[in-house]
Amino acid sequence: MKALELTGPSTFAVVEKTAPVPGANEVVIRVKACGICGSDIHGMDGSSGRRIPPVVMGHEASGVVEIVGDQVTGFAPGDRVTFDSTVFCGQCDYCQQGRVNLCDNRQVMGVSCSEFHRDGAFADMVMCPAHICHQLPEGLSFEEAAFAEPVGVALHAVNRSGASAGQTAVVIGSGLIGLLVIQALKAAGCSEIIAFDLDDTRLELARQLGATMAVNSRASDALDQATGQLGGKADHAFEVVGATPTVNLAIELVKKGGGVTLVGNLAPEVQLPLQKVVTGELTIYGSCAISGEYPAALTAIANGDIAVKPLITASVAIDEAADWFAKLKSADQPYLKVLVCPE
Ligand SMILES: [Zn+2]
Ligand SMILES: [Zn+2]
Repeated sequence: MKALELTGPSTFAVVEKTAPVPGANEVVIRVKACGICGSDIHGMDGSSGRRIPPVVMGHEASGVVEIVGDQVTGFAPGDRVTFDSTVFCGQCDYCQQGRVNLCDNRQVMGVSCSEFHRDGAFADMVMCPAHICHQLPEGLSFEEAAFAEPVGVALHAVNRSGASAGQTAVVIGSGLIGLLVIQALKAAGCSEIIAFDLDDTRLELARQLGATMAVNSRASDALDQATGQLGGKADHAFEVVGATPTVNLAIELVKKGGGVTLVGNLAPEVQLPLQKVVTGELTIYGSCAISGEYPAALTAIANGDIAVKPLITASVAIDEAADWFAKLKSADQPYLKVLVCPE
């Protein structure tokens, strides 16, 4: 089979590999679409320590079951599926509580680090445990289904926050995940959703997808625009960048007693306005990956609550993918999602 292998820092080769043979509880999936994630772009130069070459990246995929191990029940060749980016054990205390994203034995598809190595789905075939797979709703295209992972990330963030109908929210950062958080908040019935970003193209998309107002953070009156629209501050703030200025903006815009959900983690450390958090009794939530939101994500995409087609920048063949990694890395354009489609 063909695979796009990361062979060195930011260096790729399309290689021929032997197709995986499933263990008793594993399935082999013929990949139809796999999204390039921001974590692949940031990790491919080796700086995150999570993409140690050689590795086949790719954890946002959909495809058709090709072979199943002899203990697998619930999946058969021909099934249209996606899979959880987290390989969880199902046994540890966190898994028992349903918090599979915190699994003590957590591995991630398409990630290679000092603790484990899992080849991902920038390839004709990918292998994973059957228990992390999900059947696709009828009629959902493979390209849309490849968004189950990022949509799940957005739904998980909104679940963490507890945001509910009639409440107000600000979303700091309107990249791919931010645009999905905005739609998840809209689906949850939030009455005001204010999007922030530095890029006007993304802000326009944020407005089209459900933001009640979109504010360029560079504007000198950015804060006033938001508080004017809200008639004060928001019940919830979502930070989808991961840097000191954006974390501070999120905290600045949330009302006393409100919640700040941190999704972005570009910088390993940020400065926090401690007194505002303490005296305002803000609740800070970290939100990581997905914890059971896959079925809801697939349903939301299938029924149109969350639109993903406007987020597709390009669908490309495996041979073109390396060029797109370079383009996405240089980031001189507000690209959103690039899907690698092996066939
Ligand atoms: Zn991802
Ligand atoms: Zn576990």
